[in-house]
Amino acid sequence: MGGRAYIEIMETLASASPLVDPFGRAISYLRVSVTDRCDFRCVYCMSEDMNFLPKHDLLSLEELDRLCTAFIERGTTKLRITGGEPLVRRDVMHLFESLSRHLTTGALHELTLTTNGSQLARFASQLAAFGVRRINVSLDTLDAQKFRAITRWGDLDKVLAGIDAALAAGIDVKLNVVALRGFNDQEFPEIIRWAHGKGMDVTFIEVMPLGEIEGARVDQYISLNEVRANLLDQFSLTDITYQTGGPARYVRAHETGGRIGFITPLSHNFCESCNRVRVTCTGTLYMCLGQEDAADLRTPLRASPNDGPLHRAIEAAIARKPKGHDFVIDRKTMAPAVGRHMSVTGG
Ligand code: SAM
Ligand code: SF4
Repeated sequence: MGGRAYIEIMETLASASPLVDPFGRAISYLRVSVTDRCDFRCVYCMSEDMNFLPKHDLLSLEELDRLCTAFIERGTTKLRITGGEPLVRRDVMHLFESLSRHLTTGALHELTLTTNGSQLARFASQLAAFGVRRINVSLDTLDAQKFRAITRWGDLDKVLAGIDAALAAGIDVKLNVVALRGFNDQEFPEIIRWAHGKGMDVTFIEVMPLGEIEGARVDQYISLNEVRANLLDQFSLTDITYQTGGPARYVRAHETGGRIGFITPLSHNFCESCNRVRVTCTGTLYMCLGQEDAADLRTPLRASPNDGPLHRAIEAAIARKPKGHDFVIDRKTMAPAVGRHMSVTGG
């Protein structure tokens, strides 16, 4: 066998091995931000006048497919498309369509997305046709005026119509609610009853210190321990073992029969079981949402039509995945823990 052929065989074998980080955590969940742009400007996520990336810095849909496929070859079984708002990326349905081939082969177990819901009415039936079975829709309030205030630009009716379209298309919807003291914390029982009445799970998220925004996060932050304690006035909650592959811990509300999840990056660190990495729309791989370290995958992706350099870059990055993050929100630490906004790394 020639030297070149031998090297190619060895590269192929290496490229087929699963990705495991230095702490023994297998990487099986990839979140891909397909755009940093959004049709909303949620106050905890973006500043009012954001500078967005020039379009030529973005990976093309074909490049995003290649990148996702490389991860799937290395053991990614759950793929979440996010943003910015993923459904405002032009022709994003082509990406869902091409990625759905990995569902057909069984290599990918779940193709899903996180969306603000504004474009869902247009896309729900196509998403269902491409194998999307469950999605997360972010919705922090059921009050149209408050919704406009928190998203700056959003129209609640459009989001509600989007949710109904997704449910009608047979897609399970989970609501993501960012818990904001003094803004929506009094509304949680109503949101839970409404969501459970439609068969949707609700997950609460602690506000995280990501990116410079107007206003101080210390005023917005409310611990989910407190939220959960307050819910006990109206619901009896039982811990359940339900898992979706993400970081939420779930309880069941006896009164509604529905599930409530809690994502607690600050009050309970869940890093020890972290199976996730994130890629931005420019092909930057973040091994941890709460750390600055990152790897450039766009250069190896564009350097060669062969995926060898891409796989080597992914392996080198996973070998540096940190043990965890150390978010804090307190009066002494007013600066964000990391400078990039959630819309860059993707939720
Ligand atoms: N635009 C889509 C959406 O809103 O669902 C997807 C991207 S968005 C960045 C993903 C999730 O991150 C949303 O549920 C949003 O509420 C959440 N998020 C944004 N900034 C956050 C922050 N600073 N702390 C906690 N969650 C945040
Ligand atoms: Fe847009 Fe989602 Fe960020 Fe809101 S949370 S501004 S919808 S990316």
